[in-house]
Amino acid sequence: MHFSELGLGPEVLRAVEDAGYTTPTPIQEKAIPWVLQGRDVLGCAQTGTGKTAGFTLPMIEILAQGRAKARMPRSLILEPTRELAAQVAENFETYGKYNKLNMALLIGGESFGDQIKKLERGVDVLIATPGRMMDLFDRGNILLTDIKILVIDEADRMLDMGFIPDIERIVGLLPKIRQTLFFSATMPPEIKRLADQFLMNPREVTVAPPASPAATVTQALVVVDDMDKRKALRHFLKTDDVKNAFIFCNRKKDVAILHQSLVKHGFNAGALHGDMVQSKRTETLEAFKAGKLDLLVCSDVAARGIDISGVSHVFNFDTPHHSEDYVHRIGRTGRAGKSGRAFTIATPEDGKLVLAIEKLIGKEIPRVLVDGLESPELDFSEGAGRRRGGRGGKKDEPRRDRDRSRRPRGEAAEAAPVEAVAAAEPDQEPRHRRRRDERPAQEERAERPARGERRDRVEAYPRVEGGRDRSDYRDHREDRRRRREEQDEDRVPVIGFGDDVPAFILRAARPPKAASATETGADSEG
Ligand code: AMP
Repeated sequence: MHFSELGLGPEVLRAVEDAGYTTPTPIQEKAIPWVLQGRDVLGCAQTGTGKTAGFTLPMIEILAQGRAKARMPRSLILEPTRELAAQVAENFETYGKYNKLNMALLIGGESFGDQIKKLERGVDVLIATPGRMMDLFDRGNILLTDIKILVIDEADRMLDMGFIPDIERIVGLLPKIRQTLFFSATMPPEIKRLADQFLMNPREVTVAPPASPAATVTQALVVVDDMDKRKALRHFLKTDDVKNAFIFCNRKKDVAILHQSLVKHGFNAGALHGDMVQSKRTETLEAFKAGKLDLLVCSDVAARGIDISGVSHVFNFDTPHHSEDYVHRIGRTGRAGKSGRAFTIATPEDGKLVLAIEKLIGKEIPRVLVDGLESPELDFSEGAGRRRGGRGGKKDEPRRDRDRSRRPRGEAAEAAPVEAVAAAEPDQEPRHRRRRDERPAQEERAERPARGERRDRVEAYPRVEGGRDRSDYRDHREDRRRRREEQDEDRVPVIGFGDDVPAFILRAARPPKAASATETGADSEG
């Protein structure tokens, strides 16, 4: 099929041709005609499938007729992250260059003034993250009564990020008669409920089975002790012909720590996470896109949809907590038909997370070894994940005995080439199943050292060939302490004020007028 058969006008077709695209992707082929007919669309599609053009192209076509009034946008696109919103805006610029449409990008971290000025001029397309959108609405800078088309993109990500109440509020402010396009990579029941609530008699368009990693990505997984993770990462960075890479951490604070560590070791790395100021986020991403940075250490804010072609590697420095995130993260490489490589660095406590990922992708991730580093077994026992931040390995088993089950070190343990591992043991029962059966839980419990026994702590840092130095141990202890303190702070919902109780609440109440002079004095000092 050719783009010209989809019902798009000459201006849009010219822009598509300029972009170098000849054939529509499956989501474009299926969705564009329905959008042009004014139908609601429920799209189950991942990023990387061409879904952005699937809604931007017909929207440009529809919005080409008519004019926007001041503060009354004609269409609204909601995106979960600022980066995705900016990327959608780029798509509008690319494909809308022969149509005169006004666009405004409303994202946090940027000046309200410029965004308000744009809204005042009247916008055809408003692209926003939910938080900033509501801020501007509450300040009276936007009227939503003229919205003809609403796009909710990456709905499952919105759910993960806690944006659903905002979305429900925004949708409640829109006209009932409108066209709604709703996209999600996965359709869990909560997302299906929202789709039922927001869409009217939609056409359903599904392209790839959700959460299937691109066939162009070669995957590998290494299991190391927690304190060896950086070493394993540096090994891959030096030996695997890495041109550029995304390196994902689970926590924002770990992004900063790992970034510093890589810079200290001479790597050309930048960092990207949600707590950074927007100007720095944009600048870093641009530098990575332009090839000025080789490595981008990031949180999951960069996992979805960031579209940079030619990224050779993705590293999961931490095994993701949610198996879908694994698919999104590794999807940053192997794009546009190019090949890519994705390495996951797991610790023994990540057993259950690895199991969940392998269940989702329907296969075992081939294991690799790193020369000079021990390769402990994954721990699939109950509570293994809760021990995260421990010293690694099966916590309750004395080190000596665990070592027997380890793979050989030195020459024999040289990092196996990923392809070689992929080819090995194709039909065997997945490793995790075999190992679980071989390790009776009672045996482990019997070997548990007495509480407070320090023996294994000393043995937890054996010398290994080409091994760690004192600073590695110190860093590691420091990391563990920090992690224990943080306890997945990024994921745990904060109840009430959390740690951020405003100072005025903590301040002692002003004593009544009749109070003694001493008390009054103390109050004024505080
Ligand atoms: P998306 O899923 O929207 O993030 O798009 C993924 C990538 O596919 C982007 O780099 C697009 O520029 C590219 N793309 C979109 N449509 C086409 C097409 N018809 N042919 C080839 N590449 C496309």
